[in-house]
Amino acid sequence: MSDPSTPTRPLLMIPGPVEVSPAVLAAFSVPPPSHRSPGLIESFGRSLERMRRVWQADAASRPYVLAGGGTAAMEMAALNLVAAGERAVVVETGIFSRRMAEMLRRAGAEVALVAAPPGDAPPVERVAEALDRSGRGGTKALFVTHVDTSTGVRVDPRPLAALAREHGALSVFDGVCSAAGEEMRMAEWGVDVFLTASQKALSLPPGLALLVASPAALAARDALPSPPPLYYDWHAWRPILDAYEERRPSYFSTPATNLVRALEAGLDEILAEGIEARVLRHRRAARALRAAWQTLGLTLLPARPDLAADTLSALRLPPKVELDPLLARIAEAGVIAAAGLHPDAAKPYLRVGHMGWTVTQPELLNRTVRAVARGLAACGHPADPEAAAEAFERAFEADST
Ligand code: PMP
Repeated sequence: MSDPSTPTRPLLMIPGPVEVSPAVLAAFSVPPPSHRSPGLIESFGRSLERMRRVWQADAASRPYVLAGGGTAAMEMAALNLVAAGERAVVVETGIFSRRMAEMLRRAGAEVALVAAPPGDAPPVERVAEALDRSGRGGTKALFVTHVDTSTGVRVDPRPLAALAREHGALSVFDGVCSAAGEEMRMAEWGVDVFLTASQKALSLPPGLALLVASPAALAARDALPSPPPLYYDWHAWRPILDAYEERRPSYFSTPATNLVRALEAGLDEILAEGIEARVLRHRRAARALRAAWQTLGLTLLPARPDLAADTLSALRLPPKVELDPLLARIAEAGVIAAAGLHPDAAKPYLRVGHMGWTVTQPELLNRTVRAVARGLAACGHPADPEAAAEAFERAFEADST
């Protein structure tokens, strides 16, 4: 087993998948358990209970865990809430909101897109106008990407969830790049579905689609005129998940049992420090990294500081620095970073993920800063790895959050 805190291999600092903790790696790295074994049933039941706490969801909400990626979780939300012919409003902040809109269209929904240029988010008033257009009850659900990984843009869920409620619409937040890394209080803010995948701020290997559905969201599935595709149907999964929570064996489709063990270990780690503390760690790491990026001449793609996510940095490059050679030089310095993803961005840009277990390990963040600085220097840009690392450390120590 290779420990990511020793530099024997490159550090994976893309916006997912991410490094996992030694405890998560150990929980995952076992011969496949049976889905009916008492140990696995206990892991599954505990994971479902812990999801409600990490999601800060109502006791009557239903967590879902199935084998699949974030895209499967998005599909599950769309197909259980919106029937053909119904209207959905999608807030567009990057390619993942566009994907959500495409899914809804394929499901036969009438989709109103409220768009923004890359790096920006539409003002809440424009979302209100889109909801007003169909009147109260005229829109089935509002879909929002909490953090769009393609642009690093984060939106504030509170006003949007409140708007949806005022208009009699459900609210769905794609938290693939935010859950357990950004603040989300499902019950308090009245959010109906918060979905994610295992490979981001939950800091697990890829392969699980996860979501929590509110009682109102579950009632919307109950009222659908025809059932969704079987694998995605909340009704097909509900008795199975109820059974796991009651510590009884059950079967519908074989769960990814090693990943369920990893999920239990990962959620335990998060809750050992508390979800609020874990979210604050992301904020502290992001602020300190931004101080380092500034010394290196890297500017944020998000148009305003309040739009910049704490889980990743999307960074414009200095003039004359080309992205592909830069990524190669950063890799030579021991860190894997990622290319920008938005097809409409004016120029190529860099993305660095800082979510999950790595934000509990400042030395790994420090190593990332140095590698980016060395990469820039190797590309001919005047960048001082020591000064950048110092800026990171100073900002990190000064921030007591
Ligand atoms: N939504 C967001 C915000 C994402 O970042 C991603 C993956 N990067 C997805 C959805 C899709 O997840 P997956 O690749 O696991 O299907």
